[in-house]
This record gives sequence, structure tokens and C-alpha cells, in this order.
Amino acid sequence: MKKSPDSFHILDRAHTDPARLKREREKARELKNTNWWRTQISKGLCHYCHQKFKASALTLDHVIPLARGGTSTRGNCVPACKPCNSSKRLDTPTDDLFAQLERERIEKSFSLGSLDETSEPNSDEFDEDSDDAADSDSDDDFR
Ligand SMILES: [Zn+2]
Repeated sequence: MKKSPDSFHILDRAHTDPARLKREREKARELKNTNWWRTQISKGLCHYCHQKFKASALTLDHVIPLARGGTSTRGNCVPACKPCNSSKRLDTPTDDLFAQLERERIEKSFSLGSLDETSEPNSDEFDEDSDDAADSDSDDDFR
């Protein structure tokens, strides 16, 4: 399944279908019982930070999260240490939070922009003062 960067933040309802997630989680559980997975974790290498861990410290991580349309297939399942797995897991549900923070940041910068506008008359007043001084200076030059 091809994913454009733009669509990455859009959750497909079909992907988050509870029945599908349940099925994929079951498949992941089955995958964990395969020799293939035991070989993966026996290497003791976290897919993300490339650090060495005990096999028992490695968890099965979906490269493309199930909620993003990932599946519990060998190609999409990698061993990950707990910190990497949990930090990655946080990534997905907080996308909404990040989007919200981004909106707030934009709104804040907009309101800051309007604050700048309201403060402009003040700075204009200061400018006028300095302009007056400059004007009188230039007047002096002309005289
Ligand atoms: Zn790691």
C-alpha cells in the first residue's frame, strides 16, 4: 500500500476497524510464536536504535502501525526495544495532539501578528517623535 506523506496523518477508518485490529493483533501473537520471530529476537538487535538487548527485552513492533493500515506480516514486524517501541507507539495517538499543538502555534502566531499590529501605532508614535526630531534637524539643514 503506497502512502503519500500527506495521507500519513489521515487515519483510514478501514484501518482502525476494531475487527481488523483484533485480527492483526492475533496474527502478531501467532507470529511471536514462530521460529522466525525467535530468530529475530535472538539477534538481540533493536530495529530502531540498533542497540543490543536480551531477547526477552525486545518486543514485536509494527513498522507501519496497524491503525495506519499495517499488517502483522514478517515484512512489517520488527524487534524493538521497549523504549523505542513505546516512543514509537506514542507517536501515533499523539499525532492528533501534535496537530492540535500546531494549530495552537499557528493561532498564537496569528494573534501575535495582530498584537504587533496593535502595537504598531505605539511604535509609530515613537517613530513620529524621532521623525519630528529628524524633521527639525533637516529643517535646520535647510535653513
Ligand atoms: Zn531501540
